Amino acid sequence: MGRYDGRVAVVTGAAQGIGFGIATRFAEEGASVAILDLDGTKAAEAAAKLPTVGDGVKHVGIACDVGNTEAASGAVEKVVSELGGIHVLVNNAGITRDNLLFKLTEDDWDLVMNVHLKGAFNMTKAAQKHFVEQKYGKILNLSSVSALGNRGQANYSAAKMGVQGLTRTLGIELGPFGINTNAIAPGFIATEMTDATAARLKMDVDEFRKLNAEANPVKRVGFPEDIAAAAAFLCSDEASYITGQTLYVDGGAKLG
Ligand code: NAP
Repeated sequence: MGRYDGRVAVVTGAAQGIGFGIATRFAEEGASVAILDLDGTKAAEAAAKLPTVGDGVKHVGIACDVGNTEAASGAVEKVVSELGGIHVLVNNAGITRDNLLFKLTEDDWDLVMNVHLKGAFNMTKAAQKHFVEQKYGKILNLSSVSALGNRGQANYSAAKMGVQGLTRTLGIELGPFGINTNAIAPGFIATEMTDATAARLKMDVDEFRKLNAEANPVKRVGFPEDIAAAAAFLCSDEASYITGQTLYVDGGAKLG
């Protein structure tokens, strides 16, 4: 008996990285999973790799730009019709467009806000009507340690702190309807996103990971599985008295 038997989970930006790690963990615990991502082919390929545990379980990959209101609501309706409902929403899709403030363009400000903040708003608004109707829902938003401030990430940091404010407010508004809303703020997690940061800094990926591991209190970098384990707890019924919270899963990095 898995914690997610009979549940349908939607994870955005899950064709790779942390999202795929979370999707895999939900599937391992019995869920049917919808992987949403910009590229529909990548999303479908990722969905095909998920384990199928239990009767009637089905996974789908759907092309969706979460920053587009119609695309987000269309994707949620597609999940409900193809998988028979929606119980869990993870707002994971994300991008970085790093630069120091004086070089940061308006386009890069808008793009980052649009994916992280408007994307979470769009997806949550589309899902909440189903959650409220059935008096059950779990929402998990991806913040970041960068929410606390990080040189060269004014746009990303502001968006990720915005995600924490959204999480607290949804906790208050949706709690009476049996809906829990929480956030995870990861530290350095080894994914394509951090590999791209290494490339931008003209550093070797392994060297970049090694430097980040050395600077971390637990002396290693994080992996998608670390975030997935916390996500699987926060979106489970065991966590039904936890809402509006942001859990830092960062090996203690923010202590430094
Ligand atoms: P990733 O490997 O870059 O994966 C992000 C995925 O989101 C990609 O497949 C990307 O597609 C997709 N995506 C981008 N824009 C989208 C949109 N508008 N609609 C739908 N999908 C979209 O990133 P990650 O490292 O797994 O990060 C996942 C989340 O954790 C993000 O919110 C990130 O900010 C957060 N986070 C990551 C770290 C870390 O160290 N990795 C730390 C703290 C927080 P494309 O590849 O086609 O762009």
